[in-house]
Amino acid sequence: MTKLAAKNHIVGLKCKECARRYPETALHVCEFCFGPLEVEYDYEVICQRASRKAIEAGPRSMWRYKDFLPVQPDDQLVDIGAGLTPLVRSKNLAEALGLDQLYLKNDCVNPTYSFKDRPVSVAATKALEFGFEILSCASTGNLAGAVAAHAARAGVRSFIFVPSNLEAGKILGAAIYDPVLVAVDGNYDQVNRLCSEIADRYHWAFVNINMRPYYAEGSKTLAFEVAEQLGWRAPDHVVVPVASGSMFTKIWKGFQELAKTELLPERLPRMSVAQALGCSPIATAYFNGTFNVKPVIPDTIAKSLAIGNPADGYYDLKIIEESGGAAETATDEEIVDGIKLLAQTEGIFAETAGGVTIACLKKLIASGKVRRDELVVAYITGNGLKTQEAVADQVAPAIQVGPTLTSFEEAFCKLDHPANVAAVA
Ligand SMILES: *Cc1c(COP(=O)(O)O)cnc(C)c1O
Ligand SMILES: [Zn+2]
Repeated sequence: MTKLAAKNHIVGLKCKECARRYPETALHVCEFCFGPLEVEYDYEVICQRASRKAIEAGPRSMWRYKDFLPVQPDDQLVDIGAGLTPLVRSKNLAEALGLDQLYLKNDCVNPTYSFKDRPVSVAATKALEFGFEILSCASTGNLAGAVAAHAARAGVRSFIFVPSNLEAGKILGAAIYDPVLVAVDGNYDQVNRLCSEIADRYHWAFVNINMRPYYAEGSKTLAFEVAEQLGWRAPDHVVVPVASGSMFTKIWKGFQELAKTELLPERLPRMSVAQALGCSPIATAYFNGTFNVKPVIPDTIAKSLAIGNPADGYYDLKIIEESGGAAETATDEEIVDGIKLLAQTEGIFAETAGGVTIACLKKLIASGKVRRDELVVAYITGNGLKTQEAVADQVAPAIQVGPTLTSFEEAFCKLDHPANVAAVA
């Protein structure tokens, strides 16, 4: 090995606005300009270590990309198996939407059933490295379960703050790991503001506040995996559901890093934002041709995306412009239709955020922003069993029968269903 192999691949933290540098600590805003801090790497070191072959031989989780993540070689990884989720080649949905090549990144199947396990696995690892004994977060729902589960695995306590109107599946999906669950009478933006104050006063690792620079990096693996699963190429166009905008910036950063380290050719994907109409501050700015994101008060069934004041909105708009992407919105009705369409064409039951992605993809194709000949990846980021309320009244009830053949056939005859017609004929 060369001397470089012993060097640290992490330079430290760097302000995205004024480029001031900070040491690797639990800090997320620049003390001079209040800009967000981001992890800075030495790509020469990463280049020396990372290769397609080494990655392919790595663990069957997001940690196969450890060389690109902000952890130290001797860190105890808090790993419950996040990542390396299926990239499904869509046939039926592609045909229904009129696309030649559509792939679905199915992140519904992570350990706590959303992509949030990726950023939290990094944040929890880093929290242990820094010596924190409490893991915490302000959550729109999915983060709650991911933080509580990783805290359980790490053997530390967790304090989870959620808006009190959260879906039942998300509350239970967090409570089962025995966190201190705090339901705040307010929307996410109010929960987040409260948590910022708590983070100032208590020495806790808030994964999406003081640990945010490290947390956010975990979402890069959504780009890495897609590139690897496509046989080391970038898609032409990706569609991403957006709340705070963090994941969107990191999927972009992930593809850029693969190009920078020569694991991918230079060509990067076009990046498009999918938002719920009832909470669409970024898409609205895009439609108005401005980079000035105006906060809104959310009103949508896509609660996991209900962030009215998105921290990374400005950067998302810059990426849309730089990559040649677009933004689109989906009404509550379109979200439900999107969930059903995905389930009934591909057998993937996504939560409302997935409905947003599919509904927006459909509209982006209709408006010509996504071209039919592009290789498209749609990110499906959370599991439908967590938002059952959204579709509970949309599915056919079970047919009630007694435990006899006669009873079944009586009911079967009355069925107004193509299978019945075929069977009788
Ligand atoms: C949190 C979340 C998002 C959005 O993530 P941001 O990084 O805040 O934009 C998308 N989908 C699901 C299912 C989520 O839970
Ligand atoms: Zn700064």
